[in-house]
Amino acid sequence: MRSLGADDHVVVVGAGLAGWRLSEGLRREGFTGAITLIGDEHHTPYDRPPLSKQVLSGKWELDKTELATMDRLRELDIDARFGAPAVGLDVDAARVTLGDGSTVHGTFVVVATGVRARRLPFSAASELHTVRTREDVERLRSVLAEVPTGSTVAVIGGGFIGAEAATSLLGLGYVPVVLEAAPRPLDAVLGSTVASWLEPLAHNAGIDLLVNQQITDVHRSEGGFRVERANGDALQVSAVILGVGAVPNTEWLSDSGLSLHNGVVVDEYLLAGDTVGAIGDVARFTWRHDPFVEQVRIEHWQTANDHAAALAATLTRGSQNTSPLAMVPYFWSDQYGKKIQMLGHPSASDDVTLVHGSLEEGKWLALYARDGVVTGLVALNQPRALMVSRGLLEPHATWVDALAAAPWSQ
Ligand code: FAD
Repeated sequence: MRSLGADDHVVVVGAGLAGWRLSEGLRREGFTGAITLIGDEHHTPYDRPPLSKQVLSGKWELDKTELATMDRLRELDIDARFGAPAVGLDVDAARVTLGDGSTVHGTFVVVATGVRARRLPFSAASELHTVRTREDVERLRSVLAEVPTGSTVAVIGGGFIGAEAATSLLGLGYVPVVLEAAPRPLDAVLGSTVASWLEPLAHNAGIDLLVNQQITDVHRSEGGFRVERANGDALQVSAVILGVGAVPNTEWLSDSGLSLHNGVVVDEYLLAGDTVGAIGDVARFTWRHDPFVEQVRIEHWQTANDHAAALAATLTRGSQNTSPLAMVPYFWSDQYGKKIQMLGHPSASDDVTLVHGSLEEGKWLALYARDGVVTGLVALNQPRALMVSRGLLEPHATWVDALAAAPWSQ
């Protein structure tokens, strides 16, 4: 990939975290060409993690999530087009077609269209809430304002978003009931051992977590909704929130010829050729981190930032003058009154050992390994022990060396 210069025009599609960070990163790297930032939402770029935490719980107003003002965009000479969904891409011509039929012709296109909340085809589908966008949270908060505190609210899905939403609802005085389809939340993400250590958190926080819940339908009933379950036992609730995963926003690329496979497939430079790259939640990228080579799509705030910085460097300096993406994935979640943090990208089948703290204290650090090599760390209320252990992942230490070094105990 050549380096881009003053005559180039980068068209960034998706004005979320990754798209914004890439745009400002290009200017920081000294790019003097044109930048167009296209977003389907009617807002300047904003941050999503506070939506299920500080905003839903009423501690923050939505404006506090803003990442960039229009003044800042003008200052950086970024041509912002908001409320403008992209509907097509001509890869060779680096041309994006918008919903109103107009086109934006650049020399390089960055796909940063993220993911959207998965919805379920229940009878009352359109009245069920998700927590992905500003509008989602505004709508949920205005509906809750009409629901008396003490009322039951169902949260379908016990993953990160569901757990955070349930925690915020409890803080507002509602009675959240979390309905999880699997035998345990987070099994598929963190593996059964660590998931079993986290399972009591909901109960300890005073939240009902029901597992093995097969929801067959949700429909309107007098005063709220009826959540029908396969066991025949229905729940009557005042509102329903879905936290059942996310879907990559790639439909607009279906005729583009790009490789789409659970996201936009890109290489270790986040490139899909000489005219297109993809970053953030939507990117399925090659990640070389010796001894592992993986194709992954990671929905983490930090990864979106890391992608944006890496691609901005590649575009301004050329791929021959930059290295393939190097990063240590990082994720956090505030749920049930606790902080969960993860470094690395362990898989559910990796070996796991508790190396610091204890389950009784409610503060611990777990080490993951595959084939004797450290793949990740997960901490519950142990931020310092986690962060001082980051060196075990760059480069990957062996399990034996990690236990001998035990950086968490320093
Ligand atoms: P997004 O922020 O989703 O931005 C993509 C943008 O592209 C959106 O504005 C979208 O509307 C737009 N778009 C889509 N299609 C089109 C189109 N065709 N044309 C134009 N625009 C389009 N991560 C953590 O690590 N820790 C957390 O605690 C955490 N909490 C979270 C809580 C919530 C409620 C949510 C929703 C996410 C959370 N995340 C968290 C994940 C984190 O926010 C994402 O990883 C991050 O936002 C990814 O940035 P992105 O730019 O790739 O995608």
